[in-house]
Amino acid sequence: MEKQEQQKVSRLVFVLIPFQGHINPMLQLATILYAKGFSITIIHPQFNFPNSSNHPEFTFIPISDNLPKREVSAGDLFGIVSALNKNCEGPLTECIKEMLKAEDPHDRISCIVYDSTMCFSQSVADHLKLPGICVRTSPAATMLAFAVFPRLHEQGYISFLESMSLDRVSDLPSLMLKELAASMKKITTDGMLELGAAVADSVKKCSALIVNTVDFLEQEAITKVQELFSASAFTIGPFHKLLPTISSSLLKEDTNCISWLNKQAPKSVIYVSFGSIASIDEKELLETAWGLANCEQPFLWVVRPGLVCGSNCLELLPINFQDSVGERGCIVEWAPQKEVLANDAVGGFWSHCGWNSTLESICEGVPMLCKPFFGDQNINMRYVCDVWNVGLELEDFEGGTIKKAIKRLMVDTEGKEMRKKAIHLKEKVELSLKEGDSCYNSLNDLVKKILSF
Ligand code: UDP
Repeated sequence: MEKQEQQKVSRLVFVLIPFQGHINPMLQLATILYAKGFSITIIHPQFNFPNSSNHPEFTFIPISDNLPKREVSAGDLFGIVSALNKNCEGPLTECIKEMLKAEDPHDRISCIVYDSTMCFSQSVADHLKLPGICVRTSPAATMLAFAVFPRLHEQGYISFLESMSLDRVSDLPSLMLKELAASMKKITTDGMLELGAAVADSVKKCSALIVNTVDFLEQEAITKVQELFSASAFTIGPFHKLLPTISSSLLKEDTNCISWLNKQAPKSVIYVSFGSIASIDEKELLETAWGLANCEQPFLWVVRPGLVCGSNCLELLPINFQDSVGERGCIVEWAPQKEVLANDAVGGFWSHCGWNSTLESICEGVPMLCKPFFGDQNINMRYVCDVWNVGLELEDFEGGTIKKAIKRLMVDTEGKEMRKKAIHLKEKVELSLKEGDSCYNSLNDLVKKILSF
């Protein structure tokens, strides 16, 4: 989509939550709306902030977050989210008040565009009489989980959490109760039920909801979200495919893996990454190493510092590991993932099923081996394996199971069928971006909506 030749008429104030899987889509969305003629201010907590010099076209403003050191050093995701929601409301309000005071009449603040997990931003918008736009960086189905979970919890269903019920969730028939329960488990155990309700509440109050998804991928869930939340929803994903965007990686990308990939046979490489937050224990790291060493496929493995809590991980691998796999294995601490998935050598993605990774894999027609850890990853896996049929579930972190699952995905007829379906999905996504199709239309409607504020 071309940048429109028009004067900057209004400013959008983005509020980020400081996690890689949220920063990426939020900055992609900001880039898309900048290209549509809006000016952009990015407000972010001091923790984990993106490199502003990569985006000279945006104004970046940090706000204080007072995050408790204990939660941060323990990597307690839900503790951090909860603290951000408590601590940032005042600083955000003050920051936007200052902006309003200094406002240029030709560059007015039009609305606050916030990550749905920073749901207090809607109260700030209401207080300052500005429209709030809520952005969901996970699929629409996860919002239904927020909506149906408190009811199921009240009805006592979730006490049967561990019973692994195979019943379908009535509002979301693609899911089984056990998966809904697994995805929401953290919420009960960590007392985060309130936050789930606050997210749902902000979605009901916002002036518009943007979801990084594609209509045809989860039509049933999108329709239900509109009904349940009476939300004016704009599905304009996958954001990263609308415009070329600059990397917003918090870790340095190791691009050497691209030259390694260029030497591998087409569709031969299994790419392995568990995203920016999930962690495994030392035993699981070693089982993964031996599963990959024995699988007979070339592999590219992201071993992120902290993948095993408190360790830089590479030191935990057996001393002879790289020698035993030789040129067949490439290990990096952080990869340029979108470029990796787009490389013709990559034939499969063993993923934790984070939503960005799932969308990025779909967009490149790469089938997946799914091993979700928490939250929406369980829901995403269900769609990948049972609804779109472009992946299979890895049951456990055991070297022999890993080896067999990689063969099923990369070599067996079953995997080849999944690859065909994945390529078909990729083509459908490409169509949705074309003029007159769902994403293109939804983006134009969103721009009209913002201009109407
Ligand atoms: N990513 C990357 N390099 C890596 C691993 C991940 O650039 O080595 C990016 C990936 O492309 C995605 C994001 O980090 O955009 C991870 O988001 P996702 O929702 O998949 O998972 P999360 O990190 O939130 O669990």
